[in-house]
Amino acid sequence: MGSRRSKLLEDVKQHLCTCAEGLKLTPEMEAFLEMPMRELYVSLPVHMDDGSIKVFRGFRVQYNEALGPTKGGVRFHPEDTIETTRALAALMTWKCALHKLPLGGAKGGVICNPKELSHREIERLSRAYIRGIYQIIGPDRDIPAPDVYTNPQVMAWMMDEYSKLAGKNVFGAITGKPTILGGSAGRYDATARGGLYTVREAAKKLGINLKTARVAVHGFGNVGYHAAYLAKKMFGCKVVAVSDSKGAIFSADGLDPEDVSGHKHSTGSVLNYPGAKTLTNEELLELDVEILIPASLENVITKENAGKVKARILAEMANGPTTIEGEAILNSKGVHIIPDILCNGGGVIVSYFEMVQNYSGMQWGEEEIRSRLERKMKEAYHSVYNFASKNNVTMRQAAYTLAVGRVVEAMQLRGWI
Ligand code: GLU
Repeated sequence: MGSRRSKLLEDVKQHLCTCAEGLKLTPEMEAFLEMPMRELYVSLPVHMDDGSIKVFRGFRVQYNEALGPTKGGVRFHPEDTIETTRALAALMTWKCALHKLPLGGAKGGVICNPKELSHREIERLSRAYIRGIYQIIGPDRDIPAPDVYTNPQVMAWMMDEYSKLAGKNVFGAITGKPTILGGSAGRYDATARGGLYTVREAAKKLGINLKTARVAVHGFGNVGYHAAYLAKKMFGCKVVAVSDSKGAIFSADGLDPEDVSGHKHSTGSVLNYPGAKTLTNEELLELDVEILIPASLENVITKENAGKVKARILAEMANGPTTIEGEAILNSKGVHIIPDILCNGGGVIVSYFEMVQNYSGMQWGEEEIRSRLERKMKEAYHSVYNFASKNNVTMRQAAYTLAVGRVVEAMQLRGWI
């Protein structure tokens, strides 16, 4: 497991190398930035409902803390690896820096299949994970949050376990909590909403009318569902296709994402939604749409399928959905890519708002959160767009250069390097 190659990790390192020259990084800086500052491996014995004990493996990677306490989600996934977690922790570092948050980057993971675990088993696993990483986390060290297959309930257990170990309530130790336990208004749809604010700016630049735009969403979890729902509700887009791990559905007249979500809850999949045609996930990526939103896992758009992508805007709401080879093809076709660290920053931005509310004891309403989020996403989009145009580089190179530049500046000012 430990030696398994990770395409995402290779690509993330390559993106760093690409901007190293422009930033005039010294070999020492590059050496420091291409590896995490700290990694913890944990073994978690969990009492299962049938009386047996199962040992799960988990990790926490703290990539870089030059800009502040590290921040990033915890993924519960059967195919999770330390390499992927490392890559995702690097992405969190660049994401927080790009969005000017006073935070470093981290990521955690537990190798497990939550679909095969009971509610109580997931609770015991979540608590065991926090006990395992307790020594290196905390509100001014490293703050976990949700990611793939973790949710506000899991965050509530994690915050409770942390608080028990600390002997006091520490709401600010975890973000993405239920609102009654110090969670922020507007955190639940923040990644999708934030991403759509960047789509709106991109559409203006490209002269795309969102009212008539067709959208395809790959992945129908928390981010994918809200992206589909809000694209229709906020802009009036026609959401022609959505998918989950079992396959995709298509309707030329547009789907009702809320209704599809109800169907998924009652049947376990978006497939067989009445009136919709079944497609494969691959076919969804190749649809004739204006906007394609990958909102599931990494390495979805590759050299094999990028040539067939017809979308004009690729809004990367997942982390690492496009491989380097896939991106080169999209660039040659003139597809406007809103890179992951820019597009999906809304989640960690509202997590940061949650931390600020937890520190200050204040509670902001949904409108306040949304307008603050919108301001930050627009500012980041335009700074990346302007940098890319001025320096004739891609949106991703621009985003990396701005982000890595800030981390390097902080490291120099702290006298690290
Ligand atoms: N897991 C999310 C991400 O990849 C959010 C992290 C957070 O809120 O700390 O950006």
